[in-house]
Amino acid sequence: MQEEHGATAESAARGDVAAQLEAIAEEIRVCTKCELCKMRTKAVPGDGPVDARILFIGEAPGFHEDQRGRPFVGAAGNLLNDLLASVGILREQVFITNLVKCRPPGNRDPLPDEVGTCTRNYLDRQIALINPRMIVAIGRFSMARYFPGEKIMKIHGQPKRADGRIYFPMVHPAAALHQPAFMEHVKEDVRKIPALLEEAMAMAEAEPGEESPEQMSLF
Ligand code: URA
Repeated sequence: MQEEHGATAESAARGDVAAQLEAIAEEIRVCTKCELCKMRTKAVPGDGPVDARILFIGEAPGFHEDQRGRPFVGAAGNLLNDLLASVGILREQVFITNLVKCRPPGNRDPLPDEVGTCTRNYLDRQIALINPRMIVAIGRFSMARYFPGEKIMKIHGQPKRADGRIYFPMVHPAAALHQPAFMEHVKEDVRKIPALLEEAMAMAEAEPGEESPEQMSLF
């Protein structure tokens, strides 16, 4: 009986998080906090299970993402999906979003104030709700948020343990599509993810009351 109550409370909490994440996604879709809103087709809030144990953070939507309103659905996304599948991780099991939710024109780099505005208003709140055990920072802009002052080609593939989770910088799959020499780096980074995720889950298990058995079996 107690277990049943536990399960009911858990699914109610999950529903509440889902509703809050959807409310943020709706704010993002109509956001006018920076100039990027004027040029977007669709904003891209991000998607995945609300209780995903792993969160991928890319840079910003590109052409295909802007058209469809979903993250990583172009060539870089297909590559990422394939590489994740090769290590036993399905796209449907992970939450994927970006630092900046609207496409910068011509895929230019996001400006510091665009990153600041978007992360403060949206990404930080998404992270607080999803509370992932592991955050994978894809590419140099996302990496800079968790490894300030570092260079992606120097520190990719090297995890940092902080705040009870693992932060992991990886080379952006788009870089490998532009420069095949980077492909092996991207593959190497992805190969490290399953073991790190297991470690991150074990870290959470060591903190009493943090993880439910249901969550622990997600991977
Ligand atoms: N590159 C990114 O960083 N994000 C996307 O959503 C797509 C490509």
